[in-house]
Amino acid sequence: MNSALAPPSTLTSLPHQKLHSFRSPPSLPSSASMTTTTARGSLAVTAAATTTLREGIAEFYNETSGLWEEIWGDHMHHGFYDPDSSVQLSDSGHREAQIRMIEESLRFAGVTDGEEEEEEKKIKRVVDVGCGIGGSSRYLASKFGAECVGITLSPFQAKRANDLAAAQSLSNKVSFQVADALDQPFEDGTFDLVWSMESGEHMPDKAKFVNELVRVAAPGGRIIIVTWCHRNLSQGEEALQPWEQNLLDRICKTFYLPAWCSTSDYVQLLQSLSLEDIKYADWSDNVAPFWPAVIRTALTWKGLVSLLRSGMKSIKGALTMPLMIEGFKKGVIKFGIITCRKPL
Ligand code: SAH
Repeated sequence: MNSALAPPSTLTSLPHQKLHSFRSPPSLPSSASMTTTTARGSLAVTAAATTTLREGIAEFYNETSGLWEEIWGDHMHHGFYDPDSSVQLSDSGHREAQIRMIEESLRFAGVTDGEEEEEEKKIKRVVDVGCGIGGSSRYLASKFGAECVGITLSPFQAKRANDLAAAQSLSNKVSFQVADALDQPFEDGTFDLVWSMESGEHMPDKAKFVNELVRVAAPGGRIIIVTWCHRNLSQGEEALQPWEQNLLDRICKTFYLPAWCSTSDYVQLLQSLSLEDIKYADWSDNVAPFWPAVIRTALTWKGLVSLLRSGMKSIKGALTMPLMIEGFKKGVIKFGIITCRKPL
């Protein structure tokens, strides 16, 4: 059954996961070796490692965002596909799949654009945490007529996102700035919708990340996290297998990622904060056609020329894409959505 169409999972159906500390001592010395320890019990990292990682992420997106936009447009996230779709989609088909990812995420979280919604349930203020060049923000602002603010570590992205908003006459609704998701420049309880589309995997301290999402959410506000995870550990397992960890480490180096965690880890974090209506799903099957499609576009003449022009970070990123496919195929990488509501 399509997991997206399945009834939302409940906490009682969690696989055997032990509660473990998300605030255990930092142990990761540098961005290059940030994943030498597994996520379990070691989701926080040293301040120095965090700074190195933050700079690496900013440089990575400063360098690669132009290339991505040229080939794939303004959404820097996976597409959502029917799991059994064997059709080779056109470029526009993949772009539609990226929009569908936004729509499916809203639907899963029970967020509607609600003409019929009561005034106080309408989405009026949105924060897009890890906003890329603002594709989600502009889409959500237009869909809900909401004000949307996006944050990214990359100055290139923030500028490009603001320029695109101006070009689409949306500057009165959306704005973008450089800010850290782990220390957001917003008052407590500001946003009706807290949106994190494929940015959680970059966060070196998942507990701090989730705490910030919850802090800036308004009472009754909805939080949506769509993110790369590693598989849930089974009962009695303390860590991933060495070959699995090795695969993730190689991905982390080029994509500037710290230690990964599982969907269950996120759910337990949300549970520990007494959030309501926690739901999660594994959408790995729904994103399977994505990386093969990205690789195909990289191998076109236009793709190769743009890649070479873009620089080493882009080239290394492209060479890492097959590892993502391998990770999904072998069940080490999972594409998860986790959502909850902040109590009133
Ligand atoms: N959500 C966007 C972009 C995903 S790419 C989209 O769907 O199009 C990941 C984004 O996360 C980048 O914009 C990167 O700058 C941002 N990011 C990573 N770590 C961050 C942090 N600590 N604070 C703010 N943004 C961060």
